[in-house]
Parts: sequence; structure tokens; C-alpha cells
Amino acid sequence: MNYPDYVKDKKDEIIFKFLSNVADHYDKNTFWRKSQHALYKRKFANIPDSFLIKSLLDYLTHQMTGHTKFVPTVANVSEYVQGQTGFMKHWLSVPLDKEYCRHCRTDEIGKSGGWRTIFFYGMRGDTKRMGELIVSAKCDCELGEKLTGAGYETVMMQLLNSDPNAEVAVDRYDQQLGRKIQARHLTNYHWDQILARGYVRYGIAEAGEDTDRLYPIWESPFWITPEGEVAAGLYGWTIPEHIAQQIPHQNLTAQHKHGMLRRIRKDIQNDGYTGSVPQHISGNIARDMGDFF
Ligand SMILES: [Zn+2]
Repeated sequence: MNYPDYVKDKKDEIIFKFLSNVADHYDKNTFWRKSQHALYKRKFANIPDSFLIKSLLDYLTHQMTGHTKFVPTVANVSEYVQGQTGFMKHWLSVPLDKEYCRHCRTDEIGKSGGWRTIFFYGMRGDTKRMGELIVSAKCDCELGEKLTGAGYETVMMQLLNSDPNAEVAVDRYDQQLGRKIQARHLTNYHWDQILARGYVRYGIAEAGEDTDRLYPIWESPFWITPEGEVAAGLYGWTIPEHIAQQIPHQNLTAQHKHGMLRRIRKDIQNDGYTGSVPQHISGNIARDMGDFF
């Protein structure tokens, strides 16, 4: 096939062939073809070639019947392509060769995301009292930067300016753990709260324990409650037999059990307990902020 000079790559060829068919069908000239080409290129640049070929062939076969009077617009064709099985919404917004970074992506393949969550604990400007605050701000990765709004570093600085003694942290992906760590879990405030509940403690070096890990305090009355039993299971700890015997089981209805399980799961998810406290929190936040500048 002989292509005009504006057909430069595979995508151009696919679009050119399609438009040639449409032009023949509706008796359109080469000027129309060229002007349409630019529109189609912009619209379909991000759609994988194989999917585009299949969809456009489908269109020519099923939509371009003899009795259709109106020349399809790029919007008509695009709508048809988007309606095809297997169409991915992110093709409309995220370039094929780009993805959101590990820290901000909200799906497996990095085609959605862009926002970071910031946790603040300090003197709140609105209430003039100590309190928590959770805000979102855009990520500093290439795709995140394209979103509108303030960057997370700027927002963190503003929060720290509002109360220099506040704890401020941003969520991030931990390579070692292989998962995202919530911003809250990167503050001393959060872990102090967990410790204050009195049923866990840090390891003791003298006892040969890992000082970065949390250990159960079996003496806590928490462990002889049904909630404690469920929590131990979720934390991955086995309650010693003499304590387990004291847990009342008899008068829980199935519904109560279910509700309780759900509540505790949620609590533990919120705690984000992973068996070890991120190293990060042992430093002070001001130093951690230093990474950003
Ligand atoms: Zn990012």
C-alpha cells in the first residue's frame, strides 16, 4: 500500500486504512481523510494496536452498512471502540508506556493513582486543639505531577508550618514488606497509641527479643476476651492454653460473632500491624522530611 507522508508509524497505518474505507464508502476526498487522520491519531494514540485493529475492523463490518447516511465522526467511532469487550478505561488517560509509581498507584498495573495520603497529628488550626488530620495531595511521580492540586511535599510543609511540633507523615510503598504503609503508621503517635492499649509491647534486647517488633502482653485482660482471641489469630499469635481456657465462648450468637470479627479485622487493618515497627518512625519527622529537599 502506498501511504501519504503523514503516515509514519503502525498506528498511522491502522487509522489510514480505516479512513480509506470510510472515505470510499461515503465518497470523501483526500483532504477530508487527512484532516480526520489527525483527530483519530489524537484519540487513539493510546490504544494498543491489536485492539484498535480488531475494533475498527468490527466497525467497518457491522456499522458501515449501506443504509447509514451519516459519515461517522471520530466521536462515534471512539464510542464504538470503547464499547468493545476488553476496552480499558485507562487507555483514555494513561499513556501505554507510563504508569503511576509504587507509592501512589491504586491498582496492580499502575494505571490509576496519583494521590498520596498525609497524616497529621498536632495543633489543628480550625479547632485550636490537638487532633488528627488526613489529607490527600498529588504524588511527585511523572503521572502524579500531571494532576491538579498541591504536591504532597508542599502540603506537608504547610502542615508543619502550622504546628512545628506536629507529626506529619506520608504513605509510601515499602519494598521489603512488598506493600504500602499507611501514613498514620509512620508516626510515633500511632504506635504510642497501640502501646498505650497495654496488650502489646516492644521486644526487650536483654531477653533476646527483637526491639523493633511488638510482642503480646498475655497478662492483659484483653487476651481473655473473645475480641482478644480473634485479634491474636489475626496477629499470628497463639494464646497460651491457660489463658485461652478463660475466654468465654458459650453465649455468643453467630451474628454477634460475625459483627465482632468484622470490627476487629477493621481495627487491625487500621493498625496495620505487620509484626515489626517500621524503622522510619524511630527517627524524628524533621529528619525524615529532609529526604524531600
Ligand atoms: Zn506516584
